[in-house]
Amino acid sequence: MLFNKKSISFKFAMILIATTVMASMSMMAAIFIFSQTMKQQIVRNGQQQIESAVTQQIVRDIHLLATKLSEDLRQPLFDFDMASIKKIIDKLSDSNEIDYVYVFDAQQNIVHDGSALLLLFAQPISQMPKVELSPTNELVVKKIGKIIHVIEPIQVKGVLYGGIAFGLKFSQVEQDISHFKKNVAQENDDFSNRMLQSLFVVLFFLIVLCLPLSLLLTRRLLKPMQDLANKSLAITHQRKDIVFNSEHDDEVGQLASALNSMTHRLRVSHQHMTAIAYQDELTKLANRRKFNEHLSDITLWAANHRGKYALLFIDLDRFKQINDSEGQKAGDILLQQIALRLKNTVEAYCSSNNIDTQHLLLARLGGDEFVVVLPHCRNEHEASDLAMQLINVCSQPIELNNKWLVVSVSIGVTLYPIHSQDADELLKNADLAMYASKKQGRGRVSVFNYLMKEEFKLHYVVCSELHEALANDQLYVLYQPFYCTEKNRFIGAEALVRWRHPDYGLIMPDKFIEMLQGSNLINELTLWVVEQVCNDSKKMAELNIPCLLTVNISSQSLMDNEVTHQIYRMLNDHRHPCQTIGLEITETGMMNDIMQCTKAMNLWRSAGAQIWIDDFGTGYSSLSYLNDLPIDVLKIDRSFVVDLSPQNLTPVVKSIFALAKALDLLVVTEGIETELQARCCKTLGADMLQGFLYSKAVTFDEFIGQMSLTDNIKINE
Ligand code: C2E
Ligand code: MG
Ligand code: MG
Repeated sequence: MLFNKKSISFKFAMILIATTVMASMSMMAAIFIFSQTMKQQIVRNGQQQIESAVTQQIVRDIHLLATKLSEDLRQPLFDFDMASIKKIIDKLSDSNEIDYVYVFDAQQNIVHDGSALLLLFAQPISQMPKVELSPTNELVVKKIGKIIHVIEPIQVKGVLYGGIAFGLKFSQVEQDISHFKKNVAQENDDFSNRMLQSLFVVLFFLIVLCLPLSLLLTRRLLKPMQDLANKSLAITHQRKDIVFNSEHDDEVGQLASALNSMTHRLRVSHQHMTAIAYQDELTKLANRRKFNEHLSDITLWAANHRGKYALLFIDLDRFKQINDSEGQKAGDILLQQIALRLKNTVEAYCSSNNIDTQHLLLARLGGDEFVVVLPHCRNEHEASDLAMQLINVCSQPIELNNKWLVVSVSIGVTLYPIHSQDADELLKNADLAMYASKKQGRGRVSVFNYLMKEEFKLHYVVCSELHEALANDQLYVLYQPFYCTEKNRFIGAEALVRWRHPDYGLIMPDKFIEMLQGSNLINELTLWVVEQVCNDSKKMAELNIPCLLTVNISSQSLMDNEVTHQIYRMLNDHRHPCQTIGLEITETGMMNDIMQCTKAMNLWRSAGAQIWIDDFGTGYSSLSYLNDLPIDVLKIDRSFVVDLSPQNLTPVVKSIFALAKALDLLVVTEGIETELQARCCKTLGADMLQGFLYSKAVTFDEFIGQMSLTDNIKINE
């Protein structure tokens, strides 16, 4: 943490160091500049003082020299003793610093210039301007250029006799002074360098000392802040057990307690949000989002640990009907009750089988769909075992609106990794398996197999291509004749639709019609077949062949007011006195909505059509309704004639025939394959017989051929 470059303490320490270093550097620079200025000032003053001291010394020396010369020359000048004067001048001229030496008279004309030939004798002094000399005059010193001109009057007993003038070269002195200055400057530079070096050494030690010190200091100062930061960071990493230390009686303490209350609020709101996001509000089970995440997690876990799990897709049977009849509120209560039963059963199953519940999940996907993720499930038997327990517990009566209801659930099972290793595909597989359970009669469990997938593909093809298939003549109608027991001949036929698919070949109606249920396509098909039958009936009329043609009406179309009216219009349009059209309705379809059914039946009957009840005996029609409804014919289901023989006339079969006769209805038996069956049905009073014994479904042209024969019946033996 100490050297974490991103930590606040590191940054703070760096700032502290930088500040200290900068402050020290600024201070040292100031000291340096100040000392330099001071030194320069001192040097300058020193130089000036030296210069003036030197000058003063020189002046004193000049004065001394001039006074001495004036005294020495006093007598020789008075005596005009040129030899003595020369001697004195020579003594002076020996010095390198002397530029010239003249002894002059009171008129300031040269008496002696020091030369042997007295070249300048009686000439005025040219080197310097004339000076007013008097007996009282003191020494005259003038500096002109690099020469100091000195004039000392010579007097004897107060009378001015002349004087001595000499010029001193000042350059040597200046050289000395400049040399001295240079030395001082050199000294000064050396001093500056030494000072700079010292300053750098001090700075270095300052930094070396400052770094650990400031780090320690900042760590100490910022430790509580760092703790808060680390804990805050831990919160962002989903740690939920973080508590900030708010013991400090300062800003840090206040911040910590603020963070504590913030994290508390955050936790509460997180719990709330999680509940909203991942919980099904109605049942309090996990919702679809939670399930999706869980499924991805367990799939990943299973992939990494060679794990296994099962997916159980549970769907309530006929929930929509219950919801519609009992009301949505009751529907909600039902879902809650079912959810609770599922939960208890799943938990009990896991605890009795010692299943680790870490990856167990029961979720409601929406509507009446639930799903169980069962971890460590080794095979389909284990999954089916739980599924059966769930089916049993759900089928226990539930009290709703003061009524006891029995509901059932259909379950589909799929296994990881046998059926797929992909989470989405597994869910689809489980859904398909559940759908298979529904198809097989509900309230049961189906384990996924690959045929279900093929079925699903076909389902997709059927639904997406039917419309196009109708337009492209891929659908056609065959007719299976009815044999009239009284007339001993065919009197009509049932229209049975077929689909010749370019890829799938011939698709039989019991395969594709069911797939169209729930969509508007089934109505489209119904109307198309009715129209075909009406057209064919018209053709029969044109051929002068009286005929009864029946058409199967799906229960969905029967319930659709618009469709029933369209059928009515078609029946009316093709109405013909010699032709009859019968509409075959299943018992189950009829019982869905008895009011709507009655309306449709009356409407069609008013257009001259007959109402047939198809597959009679397999549904749950109430006898009282049979009495009230406008029905013409009962078509007894094939299942009743399969085992029919004179020795085996069951009371049920007998009563169905008796009932039909009592209600004054015509009876048709379908699925007659043997003579024996035909004979039995005739004995029981069947008016029409239909089955492979007489004819399979044939094309319209073939059917016309069959009907055109006078003795049209030719039994297939
Ligand atoms: P369904 O109306 O009960 O038709 C009778 C079915 O039994 C027909 O099957 C027919 O071929 C078959 N069958 C007839 N005699 C015998 C026999 O002696 N033995 C055996 N084993 N079967 C026999 P198909 O044509 O496959 O039709 C099946 C079902 O499809 C029909 O049952 C009907 O419910 C439905 N269906 C057929 N065409 C249409 C249609 O145009 N519209 C609607 N909504 N449903 C149709
Ligand atoms: Mg039928
Ligand atoms: Mg039938």
